[in-house]
Amino acid sequence: MVRLTDAWQEILQRRAGNKETGSYPAAVSELLGQMAAAGVLMQSNIKFNGALVFQVMGDGPVKLAVAEVQSNLDLRATATLIGEVHDGASLDELLNVEGSGRCAITLDPKGRQPGQQPYQGVVPLSDAQGRKFTRLSDALQHYMLQSEQLDTVIVLAANKEVAAGLIIQRMPVKGEANLAAATESESAAQDAQGLNEEYNRIATLAASLTTEELLTLDVETVLRRLFWEEKLLRFVPEQGESGPRFACTCSRERVGAMLVSLGVQEVESIVAERGSVEVGCDFCGQQYLFDPIDAARLFTEAGKQPPSPSTVQ
Ligand SMILES: [Zn+2]
Repeated sequence: MVRLTDAWQEILQRRAGNKETGSYPAAVSELLGQMAAAGVLMQSNIKFNGALVFQVMGDGPVKLAVAEVQSNLDLRATATLIGEVHDGASLDELLNVEGSGRCAITLDPKGRQPGQQPYQGVVPLSDAQGRKFTRLSDALQHYMLQSEQLDTVIVLAANKEVAAGLIIQRMPVKGEANLAAATESESAAQDAQGLNEEYNRIATLAASLTTEELLTLDVETVLRRLFWEEKLLRFVPEQGESGPRFACTCSRERVGAMLVSLGVQEVESIVAERGSVEVGCDFCGQQYLFDPIDAARLFTEAGKQPPSPSTVQ
């Protein structure tokens, strides 16, 4: 289970402080909070040494939403809006109006070498019959089944104060299954899909958790209410210093590398038009200003060094 409070509130506050965008509409912050909670759940599950990037992109008023969680549970999240969002808009109304919405999970290893591709799994935001998912949790369960062959129940909820989630996953009897090592254990897991009685009972209990309960009750109470008849093995919670916290990985250097990748002509034309180049980070709101001298220096320095491996901010 995960329950984000301070980290989640900071993400919302930073967005609210961005004069260009202002706060998220309620339905978007609900989606993004659910993504942040899901990202922390997945990262905690697999303990991947690098960034887990959870994205949904589509053709509705929300163009893209991203939650990124590092192995130490540093997290950041942002959404890009291109249209009006009404209160209570469902996943398909936000991102999958025409049916081209997708959900992607990328595992980007720490210290990735230039040319090395990160692992990425992508599934549509609709099932095999083309029925659109209305909730993020349904899309994620579908992803887990499609990409990882893992029976999964996910319950997610978010409001302005809390972003929370519960994940139940049946570990295959044979081998280790996680996002990175799915193929090895594929067959073992598939054999028992949906057939394990113990799993089915626990999954049914987990799925009965309501949004209200998830948002308002502490972890202890939720576990007791749902699984009071089960034998529970508790891990030491990751909280405080070792828990999830908001942190952004943007830097002046990375923004500079991104500007270099745009090309000298593009950057010069921005300088000619506006007198300088200003780039704001979508995740944390930090503004990076490059005056004409800074901008020119980017290219003279870039010329001396090998090309930048990454333009991801
Ligand atoms: Zn940033």
